[in-house]
Amino acid sequence: MNKRSVKDLDVEGKRVLVRVDFNVPLDESGKITDDTRIKAAIPTINYLIERGAKVILVSHLGRPKGKVVEKLRLNPVAQRLSELLNRKVIKTDDCIGEEPEKAVSRMKNRNVLLLENVRFHPGETKNDPEFAKALAKLADLYVNDAFGAAHRAHASTVGVAEILPSAAGFLLEKEITTMGKVIQNPEKPFTVVLGGAKVKDKIGVIENLLEKADNLLIGGGMAFTFLKALGYEVGKSLLEEDKIDMARGFLEKGKKLNTNIVLPRDVVVADRISADAEHKTVDVSQIPNALMGVDIGEKTVEEFVKYINQSKTVLWNGPMGVFEIQAFANGTKQVAEAIARSNATTIIGGGDSAAAVEKLGIADQMTHVSTGGGASLMFLEGKELPAIKALDDKE
Ligand code: ADP
Ligand code: MG
Repeated sequence: MNKRSVKDLDVEGKRVLVRVDFNVPLDESGKITDDTRIKAAIPTINYLIERGAKVILVSHLGRPKGKVVEKLRLNPVAQRLSELLNRKVIKTDDCIGEEPEKAVSRMKNRNVLLLENVRFHPGETKNDPEFAKALAKLADLYVNDAFGAAHRAHASTVGVAEILPSAAGFLLEKEITTMGKVIQNPEKPFTVVLGGAKVKDKIGVIENLLEKADNLLIGGGMAFTFLKALGYEVGKSLLEEDKIDMARGFLEKGKKLNTNIVLPRDVVVADRISADAEHKTVDVSQIPNALMGVDIGEKTVEEFVKYINQSKTVLWNGPMGVFEIQAFANGTKQVAEAIARSNATTIIGGGDSAAAVEKLGIADQMTHVSTGGGASLMFLEGKELPAIKALDDKE
């Protein structure tokens, strides 16, 4: 990585503003239902505490759209963080202005302070220079550890990085190095498993990886546009009429590049997307007019698993079916478990795929599960993420 690391900074006695991604899911009563994102930031926070910094954390939560939304205050996050760190976490009711400035001025080395939801101010998402200045005023140094927000050019991700000396935290570094290696220099054979709802969302990923991959396995809703391009009738399945030509183009390009593009041979079809829908498995040449494809079939699973088992690197993005419904989750489950069992370097990118792997309890069997949905997609597209670009380069 050519960016400065938190390890390159002299942080003792310094006020260090750390952008973290504490955008955790909350239930109706405001309780945190999954603290993975808080846990993911702990190594950087602990490192800064050990080195005697004053640690000032800044994050967004939800989409308050530039206004104070009581339900989106970070108090439950401060509470959970305090438990995880086993130390007091100071929490302010705003993220800029007199109140946080005072609280920061009272901080001692090794104190941890969490600022209020940064998206309560409209200047955050607009990357307003005045707002960025007000944030930067609180600190001497800036560390970004919020990979999940790195695809956004906001004040707390880009604006502040342009004002203060800056560096990447451990989580951000891990995301960049593991995913960077896979897309730049993957150990071969390299298999990309793509799924999810739409071709439209994955065009950039296909364009970037078609040449690098040996095998591209396509499942999920997006497979039907590819099947249609090959002349199959897909019934009521998800179909993007305006992407059929593009899918055909990808299939032709795959042939030229010697990349195997593997499509489903059989699919689970249902009359609707519902837990009590009638469903059965059919050959892709036999999809009934009135039914829709909701998962890959057993034969397809078998073939996908065969490719996964032959690979040294596997990258997976996008579920193989409507995995939120138990009856249509089999393909996603089997493919995820095959990836977990494999000895290959295995990378999971994408919000829903990461959630599926977490739900199956096999996340720790993967080389890396990206913490960023949109950010990991942008990374896999081979694009430079604005928040990473904004960080200082290594000297
Ligand atoms: P990720 O977040 O991992 O990048 P996506 O957001 O692209 O994945 O896709 C996830 C969504 O795709 C899920 O909500 C899932 O229900 C949907 N999906 C998968 N297969 C199908 C299908 N055959 N028909 C309709 N939706 C599908
Ligand atoms: Mg998604």
